[in-house]
Amino acid sequence: MIRYFKDILEGAWSLVVGLGITLRYLFKKPVTVIYPKERIPMKRFKGPIAFVVDEKNGDHKCIACNACIKTCPSRCMSLVAQKSAVDGKRVLTDFHVNYMLCSLCSLCIDVCPTDALKHDDPNYDMVSATQAGMNMDLLKPFIDRKTPLTQIPTVS
Ligand code: SF4
Ligand code: SF4
Repeated sequence: MIRYFKDILEGAWSLVVGLGITLRYLFKKPVTVIYPKERIPMKRFKGPIAFVVDEKNGDHKCIACNACIKTCPSRCMSLVAQKSAVDGKRVLTDFHVNYMLCSLCSLCIDVCPTDALKHDDPNYDMVSATQAGMNMDLLKPFIDRKTPLTQIPTVS
């Protein structure tokens, strides 16, 4: 019988404590926001990997050395390079980063000998309806703009 009343008292007390917490937060400014209508700046989010734009010619700075590919712990980078028909040098023809696998560790940026990579766009809600949509083509903006390095004829 004592146990019975003790359980009732404990239940009532936990109810009072719960209501007290609810009342305390009822009049405080909420810490949550109505996303996506409201957004919080994410100061510590680095943003996905992108190519640096060379101020001199608007081109990328990648020399297709593969250092970033070998360093990436997530194995989420891939590139294709072909031989230039002009001087035989390697020409970058494709560069993708799978954002679903990237951990934003920055190692690729650190090892790049030409400082060709950076974190870009602190937009934290990058979304896609497909997996392919998260496989980012870093070269596409340069190909679209027909920058000098993307126009070098290659030997297939
Ligand atoms: S930030 Fe890290 S995980 Fe992402 S592509 Fe670069 S090396 Fe790979
Ligand atoms: S390390 Fe830099 S230069 Fe080398 S392939 Fe990667 S992005 Fe290009």
